Amino acid sequence: MTDTDWNDYSLETQAIRAGHRRTHEDEHSIPIFATSSYVFKSAEEASLRFTGKIAGNIYSRFTNPTVDAFQQRLALMEKGERCLAFASGMAAIMAVGMGLLKAGDHVVCSRGVFGNTVILFTNYFSKFGVETDFVDLIDTAAWEAAIKPNTRFLFLETPSNPLVEIADIQALADIAHAHECLLIVDNCFCTPALQKPLELGADIVVHSATKYIDGQGRCVGGAVVASEEIIEKFIYPYLRTGGATMSPFNAWVFLSGLETLAIRMKAHCDSAFELAQWLEQQPSVAKVHYAGLPSHAQHELAKRQQSHFGGIVSFELTGGKDAAWRLIDATRMISITANLGDVKTTITHPATTTHGRLTPELRAKAGIKDGLVRISVGLENLDDIKNDLLRGL
Ligand SMILES: *Cc1c(COP(=O)(O)O)cnc(C)c1O
Repeated sequence: MTDTDWNDYSLETQAIRAGHRRTHEDEHSIPIFATSSYVFKSAEEASLRFTGKIAGNIYSRFTNPTVDAFQQRLALMEKGERCLAFASGMAAIMAVGMGLLKAGDHVVCSRGVFGNTVILFTNYFSKFGVETDFVDLIDTAAWEAAIKPNTRFLFLETPSNPLVEIADIQALADIAHAHECLLIVDNCFCTPALQKPLELGADIVVHSATKYIDGQGRCVGGAVVASEEIIEKFIYPYLRTGGATMSPFNAWVFLSGLETLAIRMKAHCDSAFELAQWLEQQPSVAKVHYAGLPSHAQHELAKRQQSHFGGIVSFELTGGKDAAWRLIDATRMISITANLGDVKTTITHPATTTHGRLTPELRAKAGIKDGLVRISVGLENLDDIKNDLLRGL
C-alpha cells in the first residue's frame, strides 16, 4: 500500500498502520534505520540527489526512513500535508521561529505558554530584532488589538498550562488571516486524538512528542505539521541547516506511542473527568480547573472544539502554598515531577516550579495562585490515585 491511501482511514487506523514502507525483508514492525548516510549507485545519481532532481536519502540530518514514517503518520493524524520531526518540542518551536521570522518582525503570543517558549521569544528572538507581545489566551479582542503591520504570526497553546483555559482556534485563525498573519498552535495537551487545529484554520501545529505522543516518559522529541508550501519553503531548509534532528531510535519509540495514542487519551480523559468531579467535592479544595466541568468558563467552547477534555486537572487548595506542599509530600505513589502526558500520574506545584521564575506580579497576572496544584492524570487505577491524594487533603 502506498502512504497516500491512508487519507481515507480514521485516526486510530492511521496511528497503527500509516507511514511504514515495507522493505524487501517483509518485516511486520517498522525497523530502526540506524544509518547516518546513504549510498548512491553512481556519481551521477549522487549529484542528482544532492540537487533534488531525484528523490532519495542523502544524510540522516534531514531524511531517515524511520523518522519519515513518524512524520507521515503524524501528518495524517493532524490532517496536515506534511510533518517534520525535531530533537525536542523546543527545537520544533525554534525551527518555526528561525524559518519564519526576520529582524523587524513582531509576534503575538499567549501569556500562559510553556516557560521555555516565553524565554525563546523574549531572550533569544529579541536579540535578532524580533519583538513579542504577550496577551491573555482567552481575550480574543486583545489578540486583535496586539497585531501590528509587522506581525508575522500568533502563537498559542490551548488548553493552557496549568489553568487549562481554552482559546477559540477558529476565531483566532480568522483574525490572524484578516491581518495576513499565520496562526501557530502548540497541540501538546490535546494531541490530534482530541483536537485538530489545522482543520479549525490554524496554519502550523507544533508538538512536544515528549508528552502524550511518547506517553510513557521515555524520549524527548518534537514536530511541526503544516502545508507542503510552509514546510518546504520555511521549515525544511532550516531543519537541514540547523540540524536539530530527531534520532531514528526516538522516532521508533514515538511511532509505537502513536499506535496507542487514541486509546490512552480516552483513558486519561475519563480518569481526569472523574477525578475533577471528585476534587470539586473535597472541602479543602477551593476551585477545580477542568474544561469538562460546567463550572469551567470555556466549557461550551471545549465541547465544540475538542472531542474530549484532556488529562490535566488543576485545583486550588484553601490552605495556600503550605497546604499544596503538604498534599504533594503526602503522596506515596504519584510522581513529584513537572513532566506530563505519562501513564504515570504526576503532581506539580506550579508557583514554585514551572512558574517559579516569574515575578509574583506576573504570576498573579497569569492566575497562578500559591495553593494551585497541577495533576497529569495517569492510567493507574483511579481509586489508588484518589487514595494517594486523600492522604494530604
Ligand atoms: C514540554 C512542552 C514543550 C517543550 O517540549 P520539549 O520536548 O520538552 O522540548 C512545549 N510546549 C508544551 C506545551 C510543553 O508541555
